[in-house]
Amino acid sequence: MKKHLFIIAGPEMEGRNTPSPGLERAADYIENHFKAVGLTPGNNGSYRQQFPLYRDSVTSTSLKVNGTAFELTQDFQPNANMNHTADFRFSEVVFAGYGIVDGATDDYRDLDVKGRVVLILDGAPAGFKPSQTGWTAASNIFGKMRNAQAKGAAAVLIVYGNFPRKTFIANSNYTLTGYTPSIMPQTYFVSEGVAASIMGADGKDIINKMKTAPLASKVYKANIDLGFAKKTSIEYTSNVLGVLEGTDKKDEYVIITAHYDHEGKRDGVIYYGADDDGSGTTTVLELAEAFSLAKKAGKGPRRSIIFMTVAGEEKGLWGSAYYANNPIFPLEKTTVDLNIDMVGRVGEEYQNNAKDSANYVYIIGDDKLSSDLEPITNKVNNQYTKLKLDRKYNDPNDKNRFYYRSDHYNFAEKGVPVIFYFNGVHADYHRPTDTPDKINYPLMAKRAKLIYHTALEMANRDEMLKRDRKLDMPGR
Ligand SMILES: [Zn+2]
Repeated sequence: MKKHLFIIAGPEMEGRNTPSPGLERAADYIENHFKAVGLTPGNNGSYRQQFPLYRDSVTSTSLKVNGTAFELTQDFQPNANMNHTADFRFSEVVFAGYGIVDGATDDYRDLDVKGRVVLILDGAPAGFKPSQTGWTAASNIFGKMRNAQAKGAAAVLIVYGNFPRKTFIANSNYTLTGYTPSIMPQTYFVSEGVAASIMGADGKDIINKMKTAPLASKVYKANIDLGFAKKTSIEYTSNVLGVLEGTDKKDEYVIITAHYDHEGKRDGVIYYGADDDGSGTTTVLELAEAFSLAKKAGKGPRRSIIFMTVAGEEKGLWGSAYYANNPIFPLEKTTVDLNIDMVGRVGEEYQNNAKDSANYVYIIGDDKLSSDLEPITNKVNNQYTKLKLDRKYNDPNDKNRFYYRSDHYNFAEKGVPVIFYFNGVHADYHRPTDTPDKINYPLMAKRAKLIYHTALEMANRDEMLKRDRKLDMPGR
């Protein structure tokens, strides 16, 4: 395990960002290992399941009011992620206060904004309490854009107090979804100067003005030119998967997953991701070898076992989402997903716990979806590993919400029973100091044995795991 992990979390993999050459090198290493231990390719002759990532780059943008051009970053910035290549020319602008729609508040009351450009302000009036908090709050930028979209606006100008800004980042982040069910209004963040050029005296010092004597909604005459162009580039990354064919139940599957990506480099500093999730990746490699040796010794599993390391977990569980939406092996024939994400360290809750510090693992999700998960886990643990199984994170009210935070969730959402194996967070979590020399290898091996025996039991029992429980977790 040490040999594998010093390579996977070594400097040549450069922190395994998705997508990156370092991640590709890690994928090659994993593929070669699967080949070497005798797994067959998991995807019609290939060990890779490739999937596309989309990235937008703004190539040009402009904003004019009555023929006067404003300067990018000095007075405006377009929403690079969501805007589409188009030039708009409007002869009127609808001012709609803060653009908030929430309960009794409706800044669009008596306004028709269908197909028109709307001017609104960032923030909310003093004392405004949104009915929902965070991303979904009506006073949040995304809430405002959603409401402008629902009202039918073609474009939105949002006044911010932080102009001039320092930089404009022309490249968006990569996304897994190049397609959306609907488009957002073309959106520009603008200065108070832009507001004043549209609204005249009403728009002068508008941010302070709205705090003291709010302006009424109104339609202003002004010729507005909005220019925007971008190009979209596609890059491919992949999940890496190998299969050990079963015997009399080979058309049913146990899937064992871990993410092989991490955070890459920032400002030249490598985030090695030895525990997260070099440890899970290494465990998958070892389990593949162990099962393969068992099969050669005539003790192979009855069901087929899929060993899959996924990409893009750190970006938003991309690889597992792609697999769950494009499964290579039927999910209804997949009896369980055993997901391994951080199993090489002692987490902060156990660091001063002399009794169990090197003899525990968090078991997450074995109380959900199938009543078979927990007794099997307990049975094999009592028989073989005698780890302390800590199930505290099964509490649906736990604020960490770990059940949502790794790749098993994409399987659970499709009804596949899952168990998530985890050591808890620690001081090196998502820091450049998560390095392979800090791994507790005997503890990681012990956890791997628990997963081995669990997978073997689930692969060999007569029936697939019952799917007799509903997910009891509050919505994501
Ligand atoms: Zn992770």
